[in-house]
Amino acid sequence: PEGGDVAAGERVLVAARIRPPLPGEEIRHVNNRKAVLADPWQKTVSAWLAPSSKYSQTPEKAKRRTFEFDHVFDPASSQADVFESVGKPLVDNVLEGINGCLLAYGQTGAGKTFTTFGPLGSSGAAKTPADLAQTGLLPRIAHSLFAELNTKVEMARSAAKTGRLQVRYSYALYVTYYQIYLDSYIQDLLNPTERQLQIRLIEPKAGSSGVAAGHQVEGLSVHRVTSVAEIMQLLVRGDRCKVVSQTSMNAKSSRSHSVFTLQLVQHTRGMASDAAPQTMRAKLTCVDLAGSERVNRTHPQGLQLEEAKSINRSLSALGNVIAALATPGAASSFDTYLLSEDAADIEDDTRSRRSEEPAFVPWRDSKLTRVLQDSLSGRARVSLVINVGPGADNVKESINSLLFGRRSMSV
Ligand code: ADP
Ligand code: MG
Repeated sequence: PEGGDVAAGERVLVAARIRPPLPGEEIRHVNNRKAVLADPWQKTVSAWLAPSSKYSQTPEKAKRRTFEFDHVFDPASSQADVFESVGKPLVDNVLEGINGCLLAYGQTGAGKTFTTFGPLGSSGAAKTPADLAQTGLLPRIAHSLFAELNTKVEMARSAAKTGRLQVRYSYALYVTYYQIYLDSYIQDLLNPTERQLQIRLIEPKAGSSGVAAGHQVEGLSVHRVTSVAEIMQLLVRGDRCKVVSQTSMNAKSSRSHSVFTLQLVQHTRGMASDAAPQTMRAKLTCVDLAGSERVNRTHPQGLQLEEAKSINRSLSALGNVIAALATPGAASSFDTYLLSEDAADIEDDTRSRRSEEPAFVPWRDSKLTRVLQDSLSGRARVSLVINVGPGADNVKESINSLLFGRRSMSV
């Protein structure tokens, strides 16, 4: 059966999250103000750009940039808050057969991994109440999904028993986990010897609902899971593999995109012997994106420059795709922003320009956008979390990330 629909304006949700200062981290203020200030009620984030030497004529004037989002999480926000606003809608949709995609964007150290996965520990099992409070979005999503699915199973079972409803219901959940490095190497994190997986285009068969056209990673290992604990074990296993490949492939995990997918298959079938079984599929994809820091600041060379360029290219491609999806009919280009040292200084208006032409969605511009095509397109719901740090030293990076978020918003 066809899943439900997501209204166009709700298709892409953008949230910004400001992490708290880390223990021992010194946060410089700008003109005695916090450099990055979140207002969860107004749903705005303001960032104060300290005057640089370029502005020495007006040294006392810091520039304020304010951004509005669908949700704003201040440093005091909890993982549970983020799940309720950002994670729960994805769970609800997946249960209805709608694909979802959760993307964490931001510079290294801004809180992407904390938000997406939370601290994993060695076994993945959270123990103390403090550990539990830190549990990230994906484990919460998994927990909520299993709870809902098992309720459905129970309800179908008891309804069948009492004869109220003659229907059999079952589900299966499958996991894949991989990373994309240099926009060339796709490595299976659950089968690490597979380092150069290829992408293949799949055309959905006529009548196979819930399967969007898209590209698929060929040869990826697929793991059936029946509990949150099993998902956590796979997360830990994949993480260990990231550490190993860091030394063998020179790929720091912050320089690669990590993609975790949950594929749900739900079967419903009437009790009558001639009843046709109905199958509904949906996929939820969580992406811990590579750090979005700019090239110019650190003057990288060699491999690091290669990495920075490929990250820039793939994040630009992602931004273009999301902007095209959020605002059908809009044309935009992110490239100038991400590649420019002075992006943070560029005055408004940075929103996508409208055009009369139907949107061209540039899926093919990177491997990242190709593998995400079926998670982003069609009726998929996309949640983008922009992670930023609280400090003045990185405020330009933060503004760049906030700009990326703003340009991804539905207009
Ligand atoms: P990224 O993945 O973007 O590079 P991390 O998620 O690793 O950044 O976060 C950097 C550090 O900040 C980690 O030590 C993490 O535990 C901590 N951190 C990030 N966000 C939060 C938060 N909301 N609350 C507490 N600690 C956080
Ligand atoms: Mg990280």
